[in-house]
Amino acid sequence: MLNKTQSPSAKTLAVQCMDAEHHMHPFTNTGALNKKGARVITHGEGVYLWDSEGNKIIDGMAGLWCVNLGYNCQELVDAAHQQMQQLPFYNTFFQTTHAPAAELAKEIASVTPGDLNHIFFANSGSEAIDTIIRMVRQYWCIKGKPYKNILISRENAYHGSTVGGASLGGMSGMHKQGAPLLPGIERIRQPYWYGEAGDMSEEEFGIACAKALEDKILAVGPENVAAFIGEPLQGAGGVIVPPANYWQEIQKICNKYDVLIAADEVICGFGRTGNWFGSQTFGIQPDIISMAKGLSSGYLPIAAVAVGNRIAHAFIEHNEDFNHGFTYSGHPVAAATALATIRLMKSRKLVEYVADDIGPYFQAKLRETLADHPLVGHIEGVGLVAGMALVKDKASKTLFPSDMDIGLICRDHCFNNGLIMRAVGSRMVLSPPLVINRSEVDEICDKARLCLDLTLKSVK
Ligand code: PMP
Repeated sequence: MLNKTQSPSAKTLAVQCMDAEHHMHPFTNTGALNKKGARVITHGEGVYLWDSEGNKIIDGMAGLWCVNLGYNCQELVDAAHQQMQQLPFYNTFFQTTHAPAAELAKEIASVTPGDLNHIFFANSGSEAIDTIIRMVRQYWCIKGKPYKNILISRENAYHGSTVGGASLGGMSGMHKQGAPLLPGIERIRQPYWYGEAGDMSEEEFGIACAKALEDKILAVGPENVAAFIGEPLQGAGGVIVPPANYWQEIQKICNKYDVLIAADEVICGFGRTGNWFGSQTFGIQPDIISMAKGLSSGYLPIAAVAVGNRIAHAFIEHNEDFNHGFTYSGHPVAAATALATIRLMKSRKLVEYVADDIGPYFQAKLRETLADHPLVGHIEGVGLVAGMALVKDKASKTLFPSDMDIGLICRDHCFNNGLIMRAVGSRMVLSPPLVINRSEVDEICDKARLCLDLTLKSVK
């Protein structure tokens, strides 16, 4: 159990007070947080974090799906430090470059699937998504089809929080705020088999969900559809793994109607699913992909879009500026850190470790430890990412009333018992650092079991 001191230490309180007075947090009810005081994280090591009250917490979420190499990777610190001394900043706008950006572009191209060999840099997943929106629309303009500008995404998809990302995503809570949204976006159902398939088999449901794309393309007119975008598996939507045939069907439909495929690899990229990219795990041949998070193991903000030859060559041959970019596109310190990240992943064979060793172990251990728990309706996942549905009744898949916030009850028990497991509605999700070992996986699973027991007690 965590230290349950009567009141936080003076040091903790000092940070909490400054925070409450001046810091507005993302995706947070600031009023409620200010009354409670934010948890203060002080340092980390491997897969563990410590808070300002001295509590040790195992991080089942790799920060925010990103700290793949763990919290004390000296090689990344050294790479950033050296680059900071050599050249802390220069832009890549006006016909200039520097070695870290060029080398990183080459290194990313060495691990991307297919011919995604051309790299555009951004600083966040959301910026990468905005880049995709503008780039695919401009691609069709170059091709003489400016009307082919509609993007199709999915309900419960997460594609970031800029106006572009929020509009493209399928999070209804985000659509309500800051409207109106970007025009030219359509959505189809998500491939959430456990929650939405009724009596359909996984295969039937995979076909039905892909058919929804074909129906939408036909309703809008294929000549108007620029691209379909999807996360290989939905992360922030609760870790939803599509049926095995889903992406193959999607691919066929996109090929048939000449609709580009954009894969949002912000979570799936860099080993999470046991391949460098989720597209490889799910057999997708995307025309363009976004990546962020694991690209630098979260040590510095950097994101990228990998562009296939079809799109990149059109831009190159068209001989016109792409009027898009960010001051920090290809920032040398972030790029040097990302370069070190990829090189370390290669030398430590981390992707292979996820595919052949720790990923299968994690998936098996989770099921072995948690599947029979009365609250656990279903567990799904691949590699080192998993989601589980919490239910009131397993047989009928009945959910708890949403105002009960079962996920938040469970998440709070986890935190109070030294485990970070994220709640997404009534789903609990895990995505630990890729460097996690077997005994740490065991610790996560055992703590999760304990916290599910406590959650059950709380709701009874
Ligand atoms: N796309 C996906 C699939 C994501 O999961 C996220 C972030 N969780 C984003 C885009 C946005 O990334 P960022 O928060 O870095 O803007």
